[in-house]
Amino acid sequence: MIITLKKGSKKKETDLIIGKIKKLGYKPHISKGKDMTIIGMIGEYAEKYRDIFAAMEAVENISEIQKPYKLASREFQKNNTVIKVRRNVEIGGKQIHVMAGPCAIETKEILFKTAKIIKNAGATIIRGGAFKPRSSPYAFQGLGEKGLKYMEEAGEKLHMPTISEAMSAEQVELVSKYCDIIQIGARNIQNYDLLKEAGKQKKPVLIKRGMATTIKELLLSAEYILSQGNYNVMLCERGIRTFEDSTRFTLDLNAVPVLKKLSHLPVILDPSHGIGIREHVGTMAKACIAAGADALILEVHPKPEEAFSDGPQSLLPDQFEKLMKELDLVAKAVGRELL
Ligand code: PEP
Ligand code: MN
Repeated sequence: MIITLKKGSKKKETDLIIGKIKKLGYKPHISKGKDMTIIGMIGEYAEKYRDIFAAMEAVENISEIQKPYKLASREFQKNNTVIKVRRNVEIGGKQIHVMAGPCAIETKEILFKTAKIIKNAGATIIRGGAFKPRSSPYAFQGLGEKGLKYMEEAGEKLHMPTISEAMSAEQVELVSKYCDIIQIGARNIQNYDLLKEAGKQKKPVLIKRGMATTIKELLLSAEYILSQGNYNVMLCERGIRTFEDSTRFTLDLNAVPVLKKLSHLPVILDPSHGIGIREHVGTMAKACIAAGADALILEVHPKPEEAFSDGPQSLLPDQFEKLMKELDLVAKAVGRELL
């Protein structure tokens, strides 16, 4: 249920409504616009209290959100959410950001080398996993906390925010201690304990759509994080599994306009995992920007043939540099900025 307050309502009146919501055992979600405040009272059977709030002086209107995902929906918030990451990086506005780096943090040297390359080419966020969800238990599983420490150092040295994956609820605290954005991977989108834990801390969270997850399920997973009070959530399309086997996954570009229509949250695209073939990543990256992505995830490695994971889809430094210039042109063509 959404309670819209009258223009110019006083703080005292807002507090009264918030207090009432809490007293009834619900959590208020407050969205303050330039000239409007709306308070979400989300939870089972909230509507049965409608009349109590309708009778309150400061209340202009009460409406119900029809969608099962409430806080993630455009009905709850009309304007796009712009997420403030560290070091002046804002995701969801006119500027398109590129999160780039190796699939996994392998050594300090490779991470630092890659971070320098991507920064010089115009990327604004360093990516790299310290906890890797691998199909085989014998494959490289990541450096763990040691890798996160390298990531923090790289971020400090280059003055760039960082993103890394947490695979379990227990890892959330560790990743948020060292990195600026917590990534929730495709395989963990329905790990509800992990989602709740990510919602209890304040760092922005990027949630990746599962390879067999509908758009509605992606939004409901985002809702888990939002409902815990963390409103800094980004939605990421990274390819779904279809009958097509000439590419690693099928990047669902349809998800971009659909998510933008249904939700106010920033939409991030990962063409590296989406197509899985280095030669074609650039083409899809351009398509992602044309479709309306707010940021991209791109895997880059100085020597992809020696990468511990995802070498075949990792861009070479020269390719990345050239691509960034092309992406900037596409961004400008659709009224955005990249470099
Ligand atoms: C990754 O970003 O390296 C990764 C493992 O992604 P996904 O969860 O989309 O497979
Ligand atoms: Mn990867």
